[in-house]
Amino acid sequence: MNLVWFRNDLRLQDNPALHAAADRGPVLACYLLTPGQWRRHRMAGARVDFILRSLRYLSEDLARLNIPLVIEQANFFDDVAPVILSLAKRFKVSAAFWNEEYPLDEQRRDEAVADLLLASGVVVNRFHDRVIAPPGTVLKSDGRPYRVFTPFKRTWLQLADAGVPDILPVPAAQAAVPIPSSAIPETPAGFSTGVDPGLWPAGEREAMKRLRLFGRLKLKSYPEQRDIPAVAGTSILSPYLAVGAVSPQQCLRLALQHRQEAGEGAACWINELAWRDFYQHLVVAFPQICKGRPFKTETARIAWRDAPHDFERWCQGNTGVPIVDAGMRQLLATGWMHNRVRMITAMFLSKNLLIDWRRGEAYFMEHLIDGDFAANNGGWQWSASTGTDAVPYFRVFNPFSQAARFDPEGIYIRRFVPALKTVDTADLHDPLRLEKVRPSGYPEVIVDLKKSRLAAIAAFKSVG
Ligand SMILES: Cc1cc2nc3c(=O)[nH]c(=O)nc-3n(C[C@H](O)[C@H](O)[C@H](O)COP(=O)(O)OP(=O)(O)OC[C@H]3O[C@@H](n4cnc5c(N)ncnc54)[C@H](O)[C@@H]3O)c2cc1C
Repeated sequence: MNLVWFRNDLRLQDNPALHAAADRGPVLACYLLTPGQWRRHRMAGARVDFILRSLRYLSEDLARLNIPLVIEQANFFDDVAPVILSLAKRFKVSAAFWNEEYPLDEQRRDEAVADLLLASGVVVNRFHDRVIAPPGTVLKSDGRPYRVFTPFKRTWLQLADAGVPDILPVPAAQAAVPIPSSAIPETPAGFSTGVDPGLWPAGEREAMKRLRLFGRLKLKSYPEQRDIPAVAGTSILSPYLAVGAVSPQQCLRLALQHRQEAGEGAACWINELAWRDFYQHLVVAFPQICKGRPFKTETARIAWRDAPHDFERWCQGNTGVPIVDAGMRQLLATGWMHNRVRMITAMFLSKNLLIDWRRGEAYFMEHLIDGDFAANNGGWQWSASTGTDAVPYFRVFNPFSQAARFDPEGIYIRRFVPALKTVDTADLHDPLRLEKVRPSGYPEVIVDLKKSRLAAIAAFKSVG
């Protein structure tokens, strides 16, 4: 028997581990719930719910191929290896197959599983599906990893252009095997969510539908629309990429297919896929990132403010800065936030409020349906100017100017902050005017923007 261990690759198409296992056949699939580790990694309830719903579709799709899906539990990653070994023994597994995950804890888990399986005579086969170019393949001419995105992208594009592999097909159905699939478990304790599952239909078919619609209807206008949070101008595929209901290769293929008519739109979207790969590569090349350390080591000495009350106001979207509050409320209501607003809210916390970016990083993970360690850490370190190739520390977004530029009519702000529905647009984008007409249900601006900007710059300067 060949065991495919599904993780964040919950799809049949373009799944190298499944494809290789099916070539050898017969196949048994497994998935492990690790609720203790998920808690430690601060996984959002919305994401856990999305995983469980995705598993339901995966199990049905696998059943059509006569592949049973066995679901087990191992509280922490440290407990995983014996559970996989026991599965391997129970079902007489001779070879195991999985697609790589790159953060340090996941790598350590997989090494332990591989060691135990190999010691028991089970062959281990590992593949790359989470990135377009596997970590270690995009290197500088001296063989070292890139720290800066633009040259990384240049080399990455050469690889991507040189030959995009064919999308792997769904394997053919195998002869039935006498192993029943597990029922999909209930949500583990501690992962409740207020996010409406109707906002995020799960499954591979849904992901492909969204990808194709994006390619047909939105890719062309992506460069103009991608920064406008009031419109759905981006693919909104991140939750699907995070659980692997769609692969980045499938996204790249689609962009290349539409390259002719979408022109700059395709290039611009491919650029985002490159950023995604870049951050995955960084966690492998610089694993200290996975230990809560900033990429720029000197920024570890910044005297972050201990301001629990301010942090709580930021978390709940009560800062009195409309675009920040709209973003934080979008996150709480939907489990997702527009990229432009992620940057604005992250920079506001780490610069204007001078609160440690790691607190914001953790809070995002606790709420994002698309929470992905590499992308989230990369986005936070970029915004907080602690990362490689981050925004320069002296470039602090003014959230009111950002709102005037990217939400000029205030449509996004009013959608998520109903207290501001009746405020004139010009007043929304000016802190002094807003204070004069501020509705009673909406708080005063939490901090003086000019002074806090200068304080942040000084804090960064002081550590060199
Ligand atoms: C502070 C902060 C935290 C973030 N946390 C996450 C996270 O936990 N998970 C996550 O998937 N993305 C994260 N991002 C990146 C980005 O905001 C989201 O990927 C994007 O908003 C998802 O929307 P979309 O699918 O419509 O993206 P599109 O614009 O359609 O882009 C397509 C795909 O490319 C990838 N992508 C796009 N932009 C980026 C980027 N800047 N960095 C890395 N990948 C990118 C995503 O997988 C996305 O689905 C974060 C960004 C910031 C600034």
